[in-house]
Amino acid sequence: MNVLVINCGSSSLKYQLIDMENESVLAKGLAERIGIEGSVVKHQTTGKDKVTIEKPMKDHKDALEIVLNSIAHPEYGAVKDMKEISAVGHRVVHGGEKFTTSVVITDEVKKGIEDCVELAPLHNPANLIGINACQEILPNVPMVAVFDTAFHQTMPKSSYLYGLPYELYEKYGIRRYGFHGTSHKYVSQRAAQMLNKNIEDLKIVTCHLGNGASIAAVENGKCVDTSMGFTPLEGLIMGTRCGDIDPAIVPFLMEKEGLDADALNTLMNKKSGVLGMTGISSDFRDIEDAADNGDEKAITALDAYCKRVKKYIGSYMAEMGGLDVVLFTAGIGENSVAIREQVCKGLEGIGIKIDTEKNKVRGEERIISTEDSKVKVLIVPTNEELMIARETAELVK
Ligand code: AMP
Repeated sequence: MNVLVINCGSSSLKYQLIDMENESVLAKGLAERIGIEGSVVKHQTTGKDKVTIEKPMKDHKDALEIVLNSIAHPEYGAVKDMKEISAVGHRVVHGGEKFTTSVVITDEVKKGIEDCVELAPLHNPANLIGINACQEILPNVPMVAVFDTAFHQTMPKSSYLYGLPYELYEKYGIRRYGFHGTSHKYVSQRAAQMLNKNIEDLKIVTCHLGNGASIAAVENGKCVDTSMGFTPLEGLIMGTRCGDIDPAIVPFLMEKEGLDADALNTLMNKKSGVLGMTGISSDFRDIEDAADNGDEKAITALDAYCKRVKKYIGSYMAEMGGLDVVLFTAGIGENSVAIREQVCKGLEGIGIKIDTEKNKVRGEERIISTEDSKVKVLIVPTNEELMIARETAELVK
């Protein structure tokens, strides 16, 4: 069975075609600048050269047509006919409280995704556009929605409620939802496999450290807490997001700087994090280089970043009453030797000991703790597309 995984943004469409017999990637690519000048599809079939197709694409349907033609192209395609696509899995950012698992897409499900637009005004509309475009072109192919929030729906109320008047939760759904759920689910399951353990017996902290970053506490395979909240702004210091701050800073800045809600949102989401702290870049490679060259702000930003990750690991260990595994994933978690080392440094007292030699690796699945470390420390490259494909195949079987 071949599953097409689609991740739609407002002007982009990322895709992978996965053969579920052996979970191999048959083709993948990206359509960019949809609806604006310079639309392009970059496609690659595994084992063949990359192709770039520059062609006007007024909407996602146009883009998808080019994508599907590329997938089934006689020269650079991966299959002979589009009919070889058995199902489509769509990444959907927000499922609110309505969607606690992945679901087969029906009109009612689309209505449910629409109802969550208020919670993810930038993402859910784009995801819906992708679903509609796919349904128009592939009307008889079953489709599944896989939600970024669903894995976190097992959190107890004590983890997801804020210390705000209860009626605000009832009226507006203000609560912690958490994001990157597909990644946290995939890597926690993979960690159990790597250790040859039953996930039901493990207390895991999953550190998804990418441009956006979040941490989750996973007990017996279920999420019990996570650092992102009502929106992806809460929690860790990120590339451009501030993460946890005193909420009173918001009205203070509105008054002092004369900012309205939109401007403040932009400041906290796009101009903060390590970019705002250093004035250098949101890319951790640049920050690490600057720190190596003695830049004080870069050194402090990295210290603050790692300290925040440490704080979450410690608090989730306390919350779960123990810890068996800490794992690192996503761009920074998989690739930054220095950040993994700095996060784990000083945690020997709570049973976390990394082997600095084993840690010297990028983007590879590996156990990096010492033999005598009570808590196992792992690098687990994430694979959200594969997780989406698995859930899709499972549901349409
Ligand atoms: P992601 O959002 O998972 O794609 O991760 C993107 C982030 O990973 C960017 O901030 C990159 O700087 C960071 N990253 C990628 N490679 C490295 C590396 N070798 N060292 C440090 N950070 C890295």
